[in-house]
Amino acid sequence: MKCKPKKTHNTITRAVVKVGSNVLTAKAGLNIDAIVSISSQICELMTQGIEIILVSSGAMASGMKKMGFAKRPDAIPKRQAIAAVGQAGLILEWEKAFARFDRRVAQILLTSDDLTSRKRYLNARNTMNTLLDWQVVPIINENDTIMVEEIKLGDNDNLAAMIALQLDADIFINLTDIDGLYDKDPRVHDDARLIQQVTTYSKSIEKYAGDIPGALGTGGMLSKIKAARKVTGSGIPMVIAKGYRKNVLLQLAAGESVGTYFVPRAQKLNRKKCWIGYTAKTQGTLTIDAGAAKALLSNGKSLLPSGIVDVQGRFAAGAAVAVVSQDHQYLGNGLVNYSAEDIRRIMGARSNQIKARLGQKTYDEVIHRDNLVITGQLDQP
Ligand code: GLU
Repeated sequence: MKCKPKKTHNTITRAVVKVGSNVLTAKAGLNIDAIVSISSQICELMTQGIEIILVSSGAMASGMKKMGFAKRPDAIPKRQAIAAVGQAGLILEWEKAFARFDRRVAQILLTSDDLTSRKRYLNARNTMNTLLDWQVVPIINENDTIMVEEIKLGDNDNLAAMIALQLDADIFINLTDIDGLYDKDPRVHDDARLIQQVTTYSKSIEKYAGDIPGALGTGGMLSKIKAARKVTGSGIPMVIAKGYRKNVLLQLAAGESVGTYFVPRAQKLNRKKCWIGYTAKTQGTLTIDAGAAKALLSNGKSLLPSGIVDVQGRFAAGAAVAVVSQDHQYLGNGLVNYSAEDIRRIMGARSNQIKARLGQKTYDEVIHRDNLVITGQLDQP
């Protein structure tokens, strides 16, 4: 962690801005002042030539207020009904606010399947790119109304991170109700210190975050750190800043140091690798020996059958799988050239033995380097 962030944001041409439930709701319902202020700043940035994709939480929180619930009900259908009520008012207020500045908006409600299926992922991307070409603001939320636990994206920090990767954004700005990441919960501790810049993702960063839960949204600080790991690992910076701060977006776009800046940990990954590494749903797991792990982590090699010691799951050629070491360390994700069944038959073999075992050899590698994204090496103890 360093203290003085450099002027880094002034080359932004496309940004994902996520606004949390606590920023968007007030005592009685939606916080219209916040919605208008953020809309006006987004319009100003659009005038400067910056494309903005907005990820808006607040459907649950505003639905609860509308329906008179003091806390989230446990029953899933009730929660989903609340989100449906809340989403209608939420998009209406965004639309009204942007209309003041003569801008149009579009509502996009996504499920995890829309992102994990490569085809739907590309479809959604094309639609959003079209909206951006038309200078319409895409406003995205999770489709909470049809979500059940098993297929949930979970929280909008994660959703917004995936959108930033999907649309190749230059920055992910995460607006919340506190100034950034603190070393303690600033709402409880007077001596809490704001961390201005994060360059490594040590356990202490997660510990700071774990101590700072969210009040209304689902995420809290920990889910923001997870989102930061995702985007910075793909070469995209993230900022956590306070949504109520006057002109916060304009200041960030002008390169001012506001909130906590998460420095990219890698060169920008190409879009396909972003999807493989952070969005695709893995269908199985390959366990590899120490030699293969070293070849992948340090030497940038492809995964050959000889290094594989175990295969879990049933999957076809082309599937996304997780790659782990023998001591169960997660190393990364890749797209396989062979089915699970075929990999079981060739694991441990040299590439020149593949044909004898399968009757044919389509590839030397089980996962080609171009389809492999190693993220495990970046984890700090
Ligand atoms: N999709 C949820 C909502 O609009 C928000 C999830 C979150 O808080 O991250 O209420």
